[in-house]
Amino acid sequence: MSARMNPVERMANTRHEFGEHGGVNMSIEASSTFTVIDPETMPEIFAGQKGPNAGCYLYGRHFNPTVYNLSRQLAAMEGSDFAYCAASGMAAISAVVMQQCNAGDHIVCSDTVYGGTYALLKEFLPLKCGISTSFVDIGDIDAVQRAINERTRLIYTESCSNPTLRVADVPALADLAKSRAIPLAVDNTFTPLILNPIDLGADIVVHSLTKFIGGGSDMIGGVVCGSSDFIQSLMDLHTGPLMILGPTMDPVSAFQLSLRLPHLPVRMAEHGRRALEIARRLQGLGLKVSYPGLESHTDHTLLARLRCPDYGWGGLLTLDVGSEAMANALMRTLQNEQQFGYVAVSLGYFDTLMSCSGSSTSSEMTDDDKRKAGISPGLLRMSVGITGSLEQRWTQLESALIANGLCVAAA
Ligand SMILES: *Cc1c(COP(=O)(O)O)cnc(C)c1O
Repeated sequence: MSARMNPVERMANTRHEFGEHGGVNMSIEASSTFTVIDPETMPEIFAGQKGPNAGCYLYGRHFNPTVYNLSRQLAAMEGSDFAYCAASGMAAISAVVMQQCNAGDHIVCSDTVYGGTYALLKEFLPLKCGISTSFVDIGDIDAVQRAINERTRLIYTESCSNPTLRVADVPALADLAKSRAIPLAVDNTFTPLILNPIDLGADIVVHSLTKFIGGGSDMIGGVVCGSSDFIQSLMDLHTGPLMILGPTMDPVSAFQLSLRLPHLPVRMAEHGRRALEIARRLQGLGLKVSYPGLESHTDHTLLARLRCPDYGWGGLLTLDVGSEAMANALMRTLQNEQQFGYVAVSLGYFDTLMSCSGSSTSSEMTDDDKRKAGISPGLLRMSVGITGSLEQRWTQLESALIANGLCVAAA
């Protein structure tokens, strides 16, 4: 890899915005409209020739300075030329797809993606605008190649799939995408800082800021990172999906999220440290645990090659306990008796979140598709939190495993 700065160094190198009165934090620009000092510049702002780079703002659904400040930090993190935020991860994803594809166009997408993304591509877009998608095993580069046709305008994958935690070979996908002149978009929600898809050759990165980046399960947000032209096109006053469909991020949300980014590296490293140790101990008990940091994981060597090593192997692991009933019993003990974590969908929270994937976040898949993707009925997904101490959390987890007959108490 080149001597390019890592994401944390890039973030530290971005221009700092001070508050209006010299505050260490910027002021929140809570305005839906902006004064234009020189009326002559209005046409240029409308045409997109003068924008936030030049300190020119128009209207709150277009660029906002506080949202732009957060976006600049996220562009630095991902190493993209430009970025802009949206009201949710789904708003960011749908804006990318709608900008890149017109009616009749085609997408090649990983067969294991976030449920909302799957519904967007499988149901919504064919119905509303005739954009079709072929879902393929994204680890099978030949299958990706075979799925491309003359109308393919986008290759889409998640950096690390949910809940199977398969890692996308972004460099190989990027080579293929470049050879066919099709942009590669990567959803990096599961692996912020750990994977840097743009450094690995991707063209567009999206995040749900609702997860690790927000870190508090209190906010919904999303971002698109990409070339300056692509991001500007999302804001086009006639055809830009962020401007026209209007999934605008609020400046107050942008401000709050911008204060979470400086400690994202510390949090990711700790999520990863805890998840690795818990995964190792579960494996030591002979349980069916899957975690990319374990050598037993199918994509361990791939992730070892692609990742930035300072932030661990991610905060998610899965444990297959055999049946949905057993997964539910274990989660009940963990939540209601051990205070180990919460039974809830989502991830990246400071406390541990647990869900049974087959009956929750992957429930829109058919039983056959779940089987093919390796999502068994007893698969419990865990987003490992960073509260309490590791030993305290392990004792709680071990007690719950013993109570449910999944392991025996040490003699
Ligand atoms: C949660 C999630 C999304 C959707 O994000 P929202 O902020 O809920 O709209 C997209 N992709 C992945 C991988 C997610 O986990």
